[in-house]
Amino acid sequence: MVAWKKILDIAGFGFGIWMVARRYSSKASGTFGISFKNPVPGSTVTSGWGDSRAYRNGTHYGLDFGAAKGTPVYAAADGVVTRIVKTNSTTAGKHVIVRTTGLLASKNGMINIRYLHLDSIVDDLTVGQVVKKGQLLGKVGATYGPNSAGKTAPHLHFDMSGNQAVIDRYIEAFGLPEGGMPDARSFGIQFPCEPFIAANYKDTVRARSSSRGIEVR
Ligand SMILES: [Zn+2]
Repeated sequence: MVAWKKILDIAGFGFGIWMVARRYSSKASGTFGISFKNPVPGSTVTSGWGDSRAYRNGTHYGLDFGAAKGTPVYAAADGVVTRIVKTNSTTAGKHVIVRTTGLLASKNGMINIRYLHLDSIVDDLTVGQVVKKGQLLGKVGATYGPNSAGKTAPHLHFDMSGNQAVIDRYIEAFGLPEGGMPDARSFGIQFPCEPFIAANYKDTVRARSSSRGIEVR
């Protein structure tokens, strides 16, 4: 019953993405499938949430999809473009930020998804534009600002952020992530995206959510 309630909480909190929740036993287990589109089909996840790294704060908060420079990057979910940066002026390099639409009617429920280190961004993409899941945003690159230059091979850095209410819902459903929660940042608090990516990522992510009666597909 507990898992089902949690699933309903998540549904109500909703990401505006396709969700299937099904309770199938008296042991409060169930399946929980949120499918974001993999933003870089055919890529390999080369770094996950909480993984260590040798620079900046020493911890990685996001998912890296390793792929050749120029590989298409697609929107993982519907949303509105809130930021486009076509220079390498920050650690993020060229990047796009998309705010998810739907779900929480209130501003408090918004989730920002960042697509970083792009080699190029679709020419006619504009701030305020509505994008659909699967829409082309740009190409995988290795663009960085001065703080990260040359540190890694081409990849898409994908992360999600929201406010404390969003984080609370997440933790309620999936528990605290292995890497802990980072401090609040100007664009919100980053939180793990692994369970929402039906990709080739760590079994530990599935095990963690499964231990809470939520099986991630
Ligand atoms: Zn990254």
